[in-house]
Amino acid sequence: MNCEARRRTGLIGVAITLAFVSTAAVAADARAVHERILRLDTHMDTPMNLARPGWDIMDAHSVDADLSQVDYPRMVKGGLDGGFFAIYTPQGPRTPEGFATARNVAIRRGVEIREMVARHGDKFALGLRADDAARIAAAGKRIVFMSIENSYPLGKDVTLLRTFYELGVRMAGPVHFTNNDLADSATDPKGAEWHGLSPLGKEFVAEANRLGIILDASHASDDVFDQMLALSTTPIILSHSGTRAVFNHPRNIDDARIMRLAAAGGVIQINAYPDYLVRTPANPARDTALRALGMKYGPFRTLEGERLKAYMAERHEIERQHPNPEATIDDVMAQLIHAVKLVGPDHVGIGLDWDGGGGVKGMEDVAGIPEISARLLAAGFHEDDLAKIWGGNVLRVMRQVEAKAENAIR
Ligand SMILES: [Zn+2]
Repeated sequence: MNCEARRRTGLIGVAITLAFVSTAAVAADARAVHERILRLDTHMDTPMNLARPGWDIMDAHSVDADLSQVDYPRMVKGGLDGGFFAIYTPQGPRTPEGFATARNVAIRRGVEIREMVARHGDKFALGLRADDAARIAAAGKRIVFMSIENSYPLGKDVTLLRTFYELGVRMAGPVHFTNNDLADSATDPKGAEWHGLSPLGKEFVAEANRLGIILDASHASDDVFDQMLALSTTPIILSHSGTRAVFNHPRNIDDARIMRLAAAGGVIQINAYPDYLVRTPANPARDTALRALGMKYGPFRTLEGERLKAYMAERHEIERQHPNPEATIDDVMAQLIHAVKLVGPDHVGIGLDWDGGGGVKGMEDVAGIPEISARLLAAGFHEDDLAKIWGGNVLRVMRQVEAKAENAIR
C-alpha cells in the first residue's frame, strides 16, 4: 500500500474494503515503478547452468522441472536487467594440481559466459564498466557483468587476477565455505586459519584495487571483512549477505560492521538463501536421501531428458518426506528493510543468490522479484530509493573502483 492509499484508508475508516482495492491498484503502480528503474542482482550462479546438456538460457525453464532460477524469459518476466554472473569454484585441494584444475575450470566458465553473450548478442551484452549498464539497458538488452565467487582458482599467484580482469571480471571475493590460501571463511568448521587475510590475501586486495575489481566480502570471516575494509582503497561490497540482527548466522553480518561498511561508501546486497534466513536444524535423513540420489544419478546438472525427469520426481519425493523449514519473502524483506533502516537506501542492494541456493516461498525464481519492489513501496519507500537499491548503489561503488584503478595506472 502506498502512502496515499494508507492515508485514504485511515481517513475513511473502511479499512478492509479499501485495503483490498488499493492493494490491487498498487500492484500495477509498483510494476510500473519496477519497470522504470534499472534492476541489477549482484550474485547469480547461473553460469553453472550454461554447460548443462540440453539447457539453453533462451528457453523458459522452471525450478520444479530442472531447479534453475534464471533464464532470459524469466528475466523479462521478473524485469531483471542483469547483474553479476559469477564464476563460482567450489573449494578443493590446496595443492598445485588442485590450483591448476580450479584455474582451468574457472577460465572455462568465464569463456562460457562470454560465449553465451556472443551467441545471444541481440539479447545480452557484456558489461565492463559501470556506465555500460544504462547503455545496454537502453538498447533493450540484459547486462552481464562477471564476478568471481571464491578466488581459489588463483592458487598462490595473485597476478592471475589480471587474466580474469581481461576476461571481464569486475568483482571478486577471496573465499567460499572453507578457508583457503587467501582468507578465512565465515563458515569453516575448523575456525580461523589466518585470523583474517593471509599475506597473499592482502596482495589480492591490493591487486584488485589496482586493476579495478570490486572486492566482495560475502562468505569471508568477520576478521577478513575488517581487514578488507581497512586495506582497500575503495568501498567494498557484500554481494549476497544478510544481517545478523534479523537472523544470527555466521554468513550474515552484524549491524556495527554494516555501519562501518556504509561509512566507507560500501553496500550490502541482501541474500535469499534460506539457511541464512531461518533456523534450519540438521536433517540427516534428508541429507542421506539426497546423497543417495546423487550417487544414483550423478550431479543433476549433467542430466537431461527422461533421466532428469526421473531425478526430479525422486528429489521432490525426498523434499516431501524430509522437508526443511521454509523461508519466505517476508524473511527476505525483514532483512532488506532492517538494513535500509540501519544505513539508509544508499548502502543496501539486492543479491539473491539465484542458482546458488537462493529462492524462497513467494519468490522461487527471478520472475518473482517485482514483489520486492511492491513491498518496498508498500513499506513507504519511494522510487528514488528503489532505484538506488536495485542498481544505483552497486554502480556507484563500481565507478569509484574504476576511478581508483585509473589513478593507480597513471
Ligand atoms: Zn555464495
